[in-house]
Amino acid sequence: MTVPEITLNDGHTIPQLGYGVFKVDPAETERLVATALEVGYRHIDTAAIYGNEEGVGRAIAASGIPRDELFITTKLWNSEQGTDKPRAAIQTSLDKLGLDHVDLYLIHWPRPDQDLYVDTWRQLETFRGEGLTRSIGVSNFHRPHLERLLAETETVPAVDQLELHPAFAQRELRAFGADHGIHIEAWGPLGQGKYDLFGEKAVADAADAHGVTPAQVVLRWHLDHGIIVFPKSSTPERIAQNFDVFGFELTPDEVAAIDAIDRGQRVGSDPDTATF
Ligand code: NAD
Repeated sequence: MTVPEITLNDGHTIPQLGYGVFKVDPAETERLVATALEVGYRHIDTAAIYGNEEGVGRAIAASGIPRDELFITTKLWNSEQGTDKPRAAIQTSLDKLGLDHVDLYLIHWPRPDQDLYVDTWRQLETFRGEGLTRSIGVSNFHRPHLERLLAETETVPAVDQLELHPAFAQRELRAFGADHGIHIEAWGPLGQGKYDLFGEKAVADAADAHGVTPAQVVLRWHLDHGIIVFPKSSTPERIAQNFDVFGFELTPDEVAAIDAIDRGQRVGSDPDTATF
């Protein structure tokens, strides 16, 4: 099973499929990340706010996998934006992860009410120059937030990590990203289980046709659209299942039918108004 590698706008590559650890219990994180690494995942998506960077770090250290074969993402939390705080925040994350650099460091939310994200982005540019992170990107940035970074700073974000699943397919931001060399990562790729995605006819029919699970169909749909994806599960069988998505192919009609599920149905917070 070979996970495709995507080349980012800075020349670094990222495995298109990874394992996300939002809401993975810190006490279980080491065991579950170890399971993911055994299954074959080489890309882990965490964040300072998840409280489980230590567990990710312990699993990495115990795995014996060479550092350059792993792709580790973490994120700067909203309260740490601004001129002085990001440096301490990235160093704390690196210490918890037991790493001297991450592969991708993201601004977690734009928090336009704080109006600190442009200044924060300049800090991330510095961290990249110092080798604390290979690539830098953003998360939950809408077009106006991206346009400010493009206009006011030197670096185009390598990625924008967005809520994205069939009922909330983010077509406009995907097109904007494609036009500007910003790769799109999906969070909540399975809708976080907050609506009956697996019961959608297009998903269920494709699952039946290929003898796979609805989750595998949805992950394949993301991959076919060039989206970077890292589903979360705390169940070893599902962690393995979510990695086993390269043994079948959706037909163009099946992809189109899943595309038609889009109805602008957000399951998480709106980045324009989020104030946490
Ligand atoms: P997800 O869509 O991956 O849903 C996870 C849930 O789906 C699991 O808890 C489980 O109940 C279910 N599931 C997983 N595999 C399944 C399977 N094979 N069969 C049936 N059910 C299955 O949601 P998520 O965890 O929110 O998103 C994935 C990752 O995205 C996170 O772990 C995190 O790394 C990242 N994320 C980022 C942000 C952000 O603001 N940047 C926000 C949320 C999540």
